[in-house]
Amino acid sequence: MSHKVLVLPGDGIGPEIMAEAVKVLESLRSDGLDIELEHGLVGGAAHDASGTPLPENTLRLARAADAVLLGAVGGPRWESLNIALRPEKGLLGLRSELGLFANLRPALLYPQLASASSLKAEVVAGLDLMIVRELTGGIYFGQPRGVRVLADGQREGFNTLVYSESEIRRIARVAFDIAMKRGRRVCSVDKANVLECTELWREVVSMVAKDYPQVSLTHMYVDNAAMQLVRAPKQFDVIVTTNMFGDILSDEAAMLTGSIGMLPSASVDAAHKGMYEPIHGSAPDIAGKGIANPLGTILSVAMMLRYTLDQPDLALRVERAVEAVLSQGLRTADIHTNGCSRVGTAQMGAAVVAALHG
Ligand code: NAD
Repeated sequence: MSHKVLVLPGDGIGPEIMAEAVKVLESLRSDGLDIELEHGLVGGAAHDASGTPLPENTLRLARAADAVLLGAVGGPRWESLNIALRPEKGLLGLRSELGLFANLRPALLYPQLASASSLKAEVVAGLDLMIVRELTGGIYFGQPRGVRVLADGQREGFNTLVYSESEIRRIARVAFDIAMKRGRRVCSVDKANVLECTELWREVVSMVAKDYPQVSLTHMYVDNAAMQLVRAPKQFDVIVTTNMFGDILSDEAAMLTGSIGMLPSASVDAAHKGMYEPIHGSAPDIAGKGIANPLGTILSVAMMLRYTLDQPDLALRVERAVEAVLSQGLRTADIHTNGCSRVGTAQMGAAVVAALHG
């Protein structure tokens, strides 16, 4: 069956890193991967071409695709635009129009890069965890919300933490499905000792766990989870949590790896249709110089192969190829250390393609 992938390079370093990721993807055709690539505009590039960060044509192509591969959007050129026209609106619009409610944020640290972390190498070397964050509900979207004036004249700000059983059930299912493809352990993070909403979260996640007898489920309060992530992060396989807790914990986990250019991410729906992108932004400070690290985008291709295209063997091969180039001592400027060979974006991409087929 042919898979449709929409490629959206975006702005800044987006086109440079995307060119390398596409080379990797296209090279897998010789291994039997049947893909059709479409190309579109999003973000500042789309605004310049058509006056909107999310053109109707891009949305149509995204709806028709099995997966979207995105570079990054944004940059100083578009910062003074009206908020509705800013590049980031293109990203948010895609996520909401496609109903991508689960955000997958792996934190993976190759042993070769363990010295890049601010934690001791033995604490993080070989780290491989996945945070599954609920993305479209919870306190960021709950009603009522706002700032009101009280009878005594002072103002009061308020937001609502709300999750329905079906919202909890569907994010829990994504987490358990992913755990089945990984280490078969899920840790659900909540604040059930204080928040009724997450008491329900804990109850519903436990009910879903009954459908996955091969997966072991544990529960942890968010304050302890934040502590355990820096104390002993290798204890985790899959963490599933609410929108706000996931927002905070996924950035904390990403920083355990010390290198923003290496990390992929995904946002998926219940059918595992997804949008895949590196976690970093458009890095305008290095755009056009040919020095950006393409590995986060290449690893986003690996995630897409595993979670949407259902090609776990090819996903693993891409990940192994990335590991092989790191073992060869190749490094882009952002992860360079003494004794390694400094390479540019295109050389790094070519090295991954060579390692894939070596
Ligand atoms: P950034 O992630 O673009 O850059 C932060 C720092 O990391 C910069 O020094 C940059 O050079 C470096 N860096 C990032 N990716 C790199 C890579 N692949 N290789 C080497 N170095 C890399 O964050 P920022 O500077 O805060 O934001 C720049 C623009 O990107 C802004 O317009 C912001 O809104 C946008 N942004 C977009 C996304 C996205 O598209 N998902 C995410 C974050 C920020």
